[in-house]
Amino acid sequence: MAEFDVDLFVIGGGSGGVRAARIAAGYGARVMIAEEYRMGGTCVIRGCVPKKLFVIGSHFRHELEDAAGFGWTVPPATFDWPTLIANKDKEIARLEAAYTTNVEKSGAQIVKSRAVIEDKHTVRLLENDRKITAKYILIATGGAPNHGASIPGIEHVISSNEAFHLKKLPKRIVIQGGGYIALEFAGIFAGFGSDVTVIYRGDNILRGFDEDVRAHVRSEMEKQGITILTGCTVVKVDRHGEEFTTHLSNGSSIASDQVMFAIGRHPAVANLGLENAGVAINPRNGGIAVDHFSKSSVDSIYAIGDVTHRHNLTPVAIREGHAFADTVFGKREVQVDHSYIPTAVFSQPEVGTVGLTETEARAQYGHVDIYKTTFRPIKATMSGRDTRVLMKLVVDGSTDRVLGCHIVGDGAAEVTQVVAIAVKMKATKADFDATIALHPTAAEELVTMRTPTARHVRQAAE
Ligand code: FAD
Ligand code: NDP
Repeated sequence: MAEFDVDLFVIGGGSGGVRAARIAAGYGARVMIAEEYRMGGTCVIRGCVPKKLFVIGSHFRHELEDAAGFGWTVPPATFDWPTLIANKDKEIARLEAAYTTNVEKSGAQIVKSRAVIEDKHTVRLLENDRKITAKYILIATGGAPNHGASIPGIEHVISSNEAFHLKKLPKRIVIQGGGYIALEFAGIFAGFGSDVTVIYRGDNILRGFDEDVRAHVRSEMEKQGITILTGCTVVKVDRHGEEFTTHLSNGSSIASDQVMFAIGRHPAVANLGLENAGVAINPRNGGIAVDHFSKSSVDSIYAIGDVTHRHNLTPVAIREGHAFADTVFGKREVQVDHSYIPTAVFSQPEVGTVGLTETEARAQYGHVDIYKTTFRPIKATMSGRDTRVLMKLVVDGSTDRVLGCHIVGDGAAEVTQVVAIAVKMKATKADFDATIALHPTAAEELVTMRTPTARHVRQAAE
């Protein structure tokens, strides 16, 4: 008789857990995967996918407005929120079913239950109080929205989870946060016609992104009529029937029909039974502490994806899940290289970025050249839209290596995915220059910027 019920028990049927389960099963492992909510996890059910569908939907506002300059007469357009939600729900249900089928086809067994750890080799399924022993346990429980300090009225505040299921489009919405989710939803709601106010505690949105990107995105969003209030926080929310009053730390208040917080996410480590097995938490970020192979402090327990709070992005969780399965069941040790991960903020306009910001490069390299341009995209010349694209390359002046690429404008994410290959391959600025432009595109600017717009050479004494 086998020593354990299964070779691998995966807790969490999201991006990372599903990939690990499928690949491990493909190597012949006996795999069980528990999901307490819906197969597909955050990305598919209430993250990347429905968000992108909302972004696409809301962007039609700009398309319809821009069409006039090209001769189109567009009858007054109306938008129906319930239709959007129903069609989105249909697509998400289809994807959930596809995830389920693919896992089952791989040979892994799905159990619809919350799972908690009993000891180093045992999990308990809360649904039926059944215990399963496993040679290895993989924790892939993801994360959940932060609610912040327990201010008066916090119960009236929604997170992105609820934003996907609102009964109606709010005429006015206040969104606290200046990161990915806040800005993506600010663009979504504004596109669909809501009056949007963003509240951010610092001096400018998108902390951690290149300074030029931060300034550019802010000014472009403000040009579209989105109000961005910085240097303040929400201290209280009052409800009066269907309306809310949001009180700010600067003494002012805002009336709205919905209040949303997008102030970060925390790793889902609570009530998982980690202490029963002695799984250590990383004191720096509150996620499960892991080594380069995603192994926790316990030899038989691994953790991947958002629950480790490394880079909370879907492709990273997937890559970590795959590397885990290769290492533990595929007889080849694979470490995930977390350098030069491209990322996009699907704000409107979109941000695409890979590599170092100018600030990071100047801290790490003695000679940094900056190539930067802002220009009016060709479409705007006829649509009349007041908008500009930003493109910026950060280059190591000593080796000519392109260290970073930062784009704000339509299609930024698509362009960045491809530029990331070159940057990851250590392409030099000369390689970019040797590439013939593809005309007429916005991206051609990346290979035609000849002269540095700034040069930073650190003096020996610095
Ligand atoms: P998850 O996908 O969160 O999966 C964890 C699963 O575990 C969940 O299904 C949960 O129900 C289940 N679970 C938790 N505890 C238990 C338990 N004890 N027992 C059983 N099941 C359990 N990333 C991008 O790369 N691009 C984007 O555009 C993007 N957009 C996003 C938009 C939003 C609004 C949000 C919230 C996130 C977005 N992300 C995006 C981040 C991305 O969704 C996550 O990085 C990714 O889903 C992490 O995958 P994971 O497998 O670690 O966890
Ligand atoms: P982010 O970390 O991107 O942004 C959080 C924002 O909330 C920051 O502006 C932060 O300010 C602010 N904040 C944090 N705590 C407080 C507080 N207590 N009071 C007021 N403001 C606060 O998190 P998100 O929630 O936007 O998204 C979570 C993660 O999900 C992202 O980091 C990303 O990894 C992933 N994601 C990825 C997407 C993509 O790839 N397109 C899209 C959506 C999510 P400060 O900067 O000052 O700390």
